Amino acid sequence: MNLELSVNVVKGVGDKKAKLLSKLGIYTMRDLLYYMPRDYELTGQRVSIRDLKPDGAYSITALIKGNPNLRRVRNGVTLTTFSFSDETGNVEAVFFNQPYLKRMYKNGDKVFVSGKTKIVGRKLQFTNPSIEKGNGGNEGLLAVYPLTGGLSQKVMRILMKSALSVSKRSIIDIFPNDFRAKYTLAEVNYCVSNIHLPADDDTLAIAKHRLIFEELLLFNIALLLRESSGKNNAPKLISDSAIQNEFLSMLSFKLTNAQHKVMSEIAGDISKARPMNRLMQGDVGSGKTTPAFYAMYICAKNKMQSVMMAPTEVLAKQHYKNAIETFANTSINIEIITGSTTAAARKHILANIAGGLTDIVIGTHAVLYDKVQFATLGLIITDEQHRFGVNQRAMLKSKSTSPHTLIMSATPIPRSLALILYGKTDISIIDEMPPGRLPVKTFIVGENKRSDMYDFLQKEIDSGSQIFVVCPLVEQSDSLDVRSSQEVFEELCKCLGEKNVALLHGRMKPTEKNTIMDKFKNHDFSVLVSTTVIEVGVDVPNATIMIIENAERFGLAQLHQLRGRVGRGAKRAYCFLMCERTDIERLDILTKTNDGFKISEEDLRLRGPGQFLGSKQSGISDLYMANLIKDMKLLKTTRTIAYVMANDNAPLYTKLKQIAEKRFAFEKITIN
Ligand code: ADP
Ligand code: MG
Repeated sequence: MNLELSVNVVKGVGDKKAKLLSKLGIYTMRDLLYYMPRDYELTGQRVSIRDLKPDGAYSITALIKGNPNLRRVRNGVTLTTFSFSDETGNVEAVFFNQPYLKRMYKNGDKVFVSGKTKIVGRKLQFTNPSIEKGNGGNEGLLAVYPLTGGLSQKVMRILMKSALSVSKRSIIDIFPNDFRAKYTLAEVNYCVSNIHLPADDDTLAIAKHRLIFEELLLFNIALLLRESSGKNNAPKLISDSAIQNEFLSMLSFKLTNAQHKVMSEIAGDISKARPMNRLMQGDVGSGKTTPAFYAMYICAKNKMQSVMMAPTEVLAKQHYKNAIETFANTSINIEIITGSTTAAARKHILANIAGGLTDIVIGTHAVLYDKVQFATLGLIITDEQHRFGVNQRAMLKSKSTSPHTLIMSATPIPRSLALILYGKTDISIIDEMPPGRLPVKTFIVGENKRSDMYDFLQKEIDSGSQIFVVCPLVEQSDSLDVRSSQEVFEELCKCLGEKNVALLHGRMKPTEKNTIMDKFKNHDFSVLVSTTVIEVGVDVPNATIMIIENAERFGLAQLHQLRGRVGRGAKRAYCFLMCERTDIERLDILTKTNDGFKISEEDLRLRGPGQFLGSKQSGISDLYMANLIKDMKLLKTTRTIAYVMANDNAPLYTKLKQIAEKRFAFEKITIN
């Protein structure tokens, strides 16, 4: 079967499902087959109701006793309660936010229920188990996928199953048999099938190993290409003390020593014909933008163009505004392109860029990839914020010259990994905060102190402060313990007054988000409630309080990043970590230090490498399977294999090179 066929060929996928799948980036059969589970769950041991014990995972087959009962509790949250019985006894189950279950099931239905048990009040119950009619077919290890609204795990599993059966083992293995034999790698169709429908733990491990191996080998080949693409054909961007002094005179502050050091490292790099490939790491608020602007300034002085890419539109706008202010008294032309740039404006801007009239281009990754034609691109800067970026800059399609590249990241990465991804001399660290900043005072706040905190907030608002409130993303399966942003928003409206509070959420259009952000920056209101997806990177100097709801749900590094959003001015800033229980040891370190590297080490120690940097968080968005920390050993092994292959097995290397180039080439800026 041709895997480039649309997912519509799968039984059960009509236009509606196809549209949902497209939200997950799934369009073709290949996309679907390579849509990797984020986790697996074991359906619990099958028992009689009598044998259920608290805090275990079990499956039962039982009859529904009485009709399900649907209740609305707190804002927007629904509870559906079921009673089940078998010959040995009765048990209840509670489902949060799945009101439709009441319509789907009735008294007397035979069902298969699987999930975790706990004691609530005095009774044993299942909380948010999975439920299906009948005796239950799917048992054992079940894949759990990242989903989008309207698509359930169950449906996704069914789709995967039929996709696997219609595709009939038609993935072509990129590895020849002898290669697979040499490194003990299973056949690709076997692996893809077992990733989705694992027969057991061992098979799953075999499948994972092969797919991770493949991914890391290609990744390493892409890295090798980057290294070998150092054709010494980058433009020499020369600076001197006059240029440096001009730049310094545009700043309203004195550089920190760390900024100074990094700026001379960058200036040194870009003056050479070897393309710079530098990672600049520094905590949130350490002032990474300044060295980046300096590089852009030097570039413009050398009559070359530079581009800065930000992960979100809000951040792109912030950089743009900042650049306009910084370069106000120069002849440098700056343009911004984002998702909300109108077609007409865009056409005009693109013409200016292609014609060489624009010196600096700022925009979002999404908009700039692939689509912008530069006249003389000399420098590419990527702001990764909360990721640690290893974008494959080698993949730039350039006709004559290679631009220099600089990546800014606020996520500290373990040194061993940084050294694999970058050369020792290619890492710059800003390990010093601008002076005069008071460290953010951090407190863990239990529910019993919530109303005291609101009193405090009221006083702070009255004295002109602004407040961020961040809530975790609520998934359907979440229990009552989690406060949704809507809920928090409504409560704050009641306590602090409606006109003082606004809500920003993921489902809003970019323009709506921008309007709210602009208003917040303008101090049109005082409290902004949002989920983390939105804005980890915004600069609102007047914001001095960060409240994080259900802080126990966040990783330490993430909390630290969020906290970095406040305390940018001279005024004392506070961070309140809201928790049901105040004895959460893990969060303690945040109350004791503001050092991001320390906190991330602690995170690594506490959570283990597995969760510390999932490929999502790490920003290596192109890695679906591998986790660079957890799979560090395999990363190293495949690196050696790639090296050896480059010399020993040219035909295979050439073939894999092409695949790697496509797979990891997510930045294709064309250069004249
Ligand atoms: P980052 O991108 O590393 O999080 P930014 O570059 O956005 O940090 O800088 C954070 C804030 O600190 C900005 O408002 C910036 O103007 C200010 N800033 C940067 N460097 C200095 C400095 N040396 N002295 C004082 N303020 C600075
Ligand atoms: Mg920044």
